[in-house]
Amino acid sequence: MHKLWKYLFDEDTGRGIALTTLFYHSTYKKTYQFAKQVETWSSEQMQEYQWNQLSTLLQHAYDHVPYYNNLLKTFNMTPGDIKTLEDFRRIPLLGKETIQGHANEFKATNYPPSAFEETNTGGSTGFSLQFSIEKGVWFAKHLAYLSILLNRGGCDVMDNSVQLVGREKPWEYRPLSRTLVLSSYQMTEQNLPIYVKKIIQLHPGYFIGYPSAMTMLASYMKQHSLEIKGVKAIHLFGETIYDWQREFLESFFHCRVHGQYGHREQCVLSGTCEKANTYHIFPDYGYVELVDRNGQPVTKEGQIGEIVATGFHTGIFPFIRYKTGDIAVYTSERCECGRQVPLLKSVEGRIQDFMVSGTGRLVPLMGVLQLISRSSSHMKEYQLYQDHEGELVLHIVKKEGFSDEDVNQIRENIRTRLGDEFSLSIDYLDSIPRTIRGKYQFFVQKLPVKYIL
Ligand SMILES: [Zn+2]
Repeated sequence: MHKLWKYLFDEDTGRGIALTTLFYHSTYKKTYQFAKQVETWSSEQMQEYQWNQLSTLLQHAYDHVPYYNNLLKTFNMTPGDIKTLEDFRRIPLLGKETIQGHANEFKATNYPPSAFEETNTGGSTGFSLQFSIEKGVWFAKHLAYLSILLNRGGCDVMDNSVQLVGREKPWEYRPLSRTLVLSSYQMTEQNLPIYVKKIIQLHPGYFIGYPSAMTMLASYMKQHSLEIKGVKAIHLFGETIYDWQREFLESFFHCRVHGQYGHREQCVLSGTCEKANTYHIFPDYGYVELVDRNGQPVTKEGQIGEIVATGFHTGIFPFIRYKTGDIAVYTSERCECGRQVPLLKSVEGRIQDFMVSGTGRLVPLMGVLQLISRSSSHMKEYQLYQDHEGELVLHIVKKEGFSDEDVNQIRENIRTRLGDEFSLSIDYLDSIPRTIRGKYQFFVQKLPVKYIL
């Protein structure tokens, strides 16, 4: 039974649908209906609800979670002392290292041991965080919010679909959820024709996957004049979506590209809507703050800050004022779709989306990758890498025909674009390694996050 359970609840594949329907249907339905209702609320109603959730979570954490009990006592506070958002901001920000060092103290003592399921973050930055989620329940809730995001693209969770995500097996069809799961690790010249054949046979209503992998798939199909009709939407998550990727995918698949931003820690979930590419935060999922490098709230239109979030569904292992390490652009505007939910103007991703020049200046990566890719048609794969200010390393997997001419063109284009604030060296590799979750990184930034805030 345990094996079957694991099999059906593998979150990367959405396979838990059948069991969720059986055992957690009421959790799913309640979460779905409530989240839909919240979308119709006024801002004031949302704020009032969020405040109640924050207070309830704090009281719970104080009563049942040793880490928070100690923390509040250290600051000589009880949950009763926290009466405003300003008070709430006195609670120190929670870093990943703190959780790693105290994982057992974060587990709520009023949940039965059978409710705990251990999980971890992907570790694309080389750091994988271990924590607990509520077995079964978390998936039912996840599925409820996912359904709402899919609906916005005119899709239903039970439509035939293709998932392109990080996993070992190159492909697998899951009849229960009508999902063809394809591996972003295994997009080789040998496998891609098989992927496409399977996709065309399935007639998927939608795709869901990493932007880089979807781009690679669509480029391959375009190169080989392969087409697919009837796709209602492309849903992307897991990496920053570049404008050029969105434009390319929308024109290739003749449908809208939707973005989702969330994470396994379940503190924040947001997605684009029918009208706009801004990220609409689910106010009943978590409370989201944007903070500057001093931990102070970001309140200026267009300013960037780190996403700090408190998850309302994390009672079993509370994340309160959790530093996600992700960067977003602040806006106080509301969307023309009419939902009064808070928005993130854009999610800029991590430090990986900026280069640091020799003078310590931040240079957005945007456009540079396209420039590299336009400079040579003889690269199978490439990746830009930085671990020193002002120094870029370009990793190249050569295709037949790659010559000094390609190198010169790349160097010249980079120099024209970036000036002399950056030096460029080139390393040739046999392949570009994927991250643990199978994500392809066009840019690896090893310099720390302090540079961007
Ligand atoms: Zn909207």
